[in-house]
Amino acid sequence: NAKTTQVKLVLLGEAAVGKSSLVMRFVNDDFQENKEPTIGAAFLTQKIALEDKTIKFEIWDTAGQERFHSLAPMYYRNAQAAVVVYDVTKAASLDKAKSWVKELQRQANPNIVIALAGNKVDLVQPAGEGEDESMENGRQVPTEEAKAYSNETGLLFFETSAKKGDGVRDIFKEIAKKIPLE
Ligand code: GDP
Ligand code: MG
Repeated sequence: NAKTTQVKLVLLGEAAVGKSSLVMRFVNDDFQENKEPTIGAAFLTQKIALEDKTIKFEIWDTAGQERFHSLAPMYYRNAQAAVVVYDVTKAASLDKAKSWVKELQRQANPNIVIALAGNKVDLVQPAGEGEDESMENGRQVPTEEAKAYSNETGLLFFETSAKKGDGVRDIFKEIAKKIPLE
């Protein structure tokens, strides 16, 4: 009979990195290959039960923040958690993710729990024999680079595949653990 705590969570990151797909995987355990882009903001909820508490995520999957940056503060205002997403096969999407993290750390709730998610790991092929493992085929962001940045910056860090489901539940579970009990 654990207490349920509601947590407002926002997704941020460059267009097409897989924000909506991560939410769809977490909420419906489903994936669509050629998903239509989100129009405006979609609102979904999903619960996670931990030993001592249940967290009900109120998830704001935004679009438009990608092009109309000025809309973003409306979404992340009052958010207790954020998932900032990049695509491991697109180096520039990590730069964009870093700029979102900076903005959140400056402007959002000072206690916000932020997770960085490197999505689309299913597109990465393992390095061949004798090849540099940090640069597997198709990968543009080495795991260690993103992990080091996350440690320095105080973020949770996961590599994920919305397509296969890898790592997706872990993001939300680790965020849930970090939300203080009221
Ligand atoms: P958003 O704009 O950040 O919300 O991105 P979407 O969720 O709409 O995804 C953009 C495109 O990338 C779609 O065609 C998805 O099917 C695809 N996609 C999303 N996540 C993954 C993933 O983990 N692996 C692969 N291979 N494709 C993905
Ligand atoms: Mg979307």
